[in-house]
Amino acid sequence: MLDTATIRPQFPILETSVHGKPLIYLDNAATTQKPLAVLDAIRHYYDTENANVHRGSHYLSQLATEAHEESRETVARFINAPETAEVLFTSGCTMGINLAADTIAGSGMVKPGDEVIVTASEHHSNIVPWQMLCERTGAVLKAVPLTPGQTLDMEAYRNMLSPRTRIVAVGHVSNTLGTVNPVREMAALAKENRQETIVLIDGAQAVSHMNVDVQELGCDLYAFSGHKLYAPTGIGALWGKRELLEKLPPWMGGGEMIKEVTFEKTVYNDIPFKYEAGTPNIGGAVGLAAAIRYVSGLGLDNIAAHEQKLTDMAVEGLKAMPRLTVLAPDVPHSAVVSVLAEGVHHYDLGTLLDQMGIAVRTGHHCCQPLMCALGTTGTTRASFALYNTEEEVQTFLKSMNRALDMLS
Ligand code: PMP
Repeated sequence: MLDTATIRPQFPILETSVHGKPLIYLDNAATTQKPLAVLDAIRHYYDTENANVHRGSHYLSQLATEAHEESRETVARFINAPETAEVLFTSGCTMGINLAADTIAGSGMVKPGDEVIVTASEHHSNIVPWQMLCERTGAVLKAVPLTPGQTLDMEAYRNMLSPRTRIVAVGHVSNTLGTVNPVREMAALAKENRQETIVLIDGAQAVSHMNVDVQELGCDLYAFSGHKLYAPTGIGALWGKRELLEKLPPWMGGGEMIKEVTFEKTVYNDIPFKYEAGTPNIGGAVGLAAAIRYVSGLGLDNIAAHEQKLTDMAVEGLKAMPRLTVLAPDVPHSAVVSVLAEGVHHYDLGTLLDQMGIAVRTGHHCCQPLMCALGTTGTTRASFALYNTEEEVQTFLKSMNRALDMLS
């Protein structure tokens, strides 16, 4: 079990007062707060090791290069990547998916009439890059619909797979509904249908809430952001199978991604550097590794159990409020709960909760097609992290009741 009494002092920002009330931060699906271990690691890096990587033969440059590459190893172990070189540093999940979609589009692998499958509950980051790929290649985008219970319609997915399926891109966990999607089964079905189908999993909402093993999932690409995993903004990772990364063309051109440049021809670097043009976010990578060490030290299973308790408590309490529709699919469900309030605009609800010190998110959560499927323009979403407490959830439920009364 997690001991939040010892965890919370590790996150100084949790001491903030909002409108004279203690902050209750339930917007963790937007970004998480950062522990001292991460802040200290970044400070230590800039205090003692800062230089540019790879290019220099001098002492500090070697330290910076080691720090950067050790961080890559930490990420690789965290997601059980077979090889450290298969981990590319990105600025976040959005960049990872764009890198994948853009290089696949440029590879010539996708032909007009080929099909790309996403799902109705994807974040815009896992829709728009594929639409752009379709525009470039003449491929067709298809979306797996939801069942009336808001889970993925697996029957529809099975029927959608065809000899034209080239890419399947699916979110591991929905950032709006909290649904844990059956990504392993989806990857297996995609490969059974056509072995060469590229399967990408968007892990942005998963990595801080459960153990992730990319080999066990059977995907080809896995993208995530550091900032939803207690690391700073501006750093993330894309894992890809070596065979695929070697086959795809480079993305951005510049320093680091080359072995040799002449005006006639450039010889590209080996992976992962082929995909990392320019000076990388070294301090960010150090922060990401520190965050991974932090959550691994607590244990992802312990974190998941703690958050499950909070989520179940919130779902149960919200379901008891007659004016709310709780969007909590009856399948594995992780750390997020969204509600629709009858006759109340989500923005008004969010503003009132903020007055009570509670940070929730309102709106479409970058999932407009999902909002369309749900017949709404936005939800009110509470999302949990390892530092949230049962008392906070109780206060949130009481405040929600009060806010609904005030708005009636
Ligand atoms: N996918 C999902 C499921 C997300 O929750 C997010 C972030 N909210 C993203 C992708 C995009 O991540 P980022 O904005 O950090 O690139």
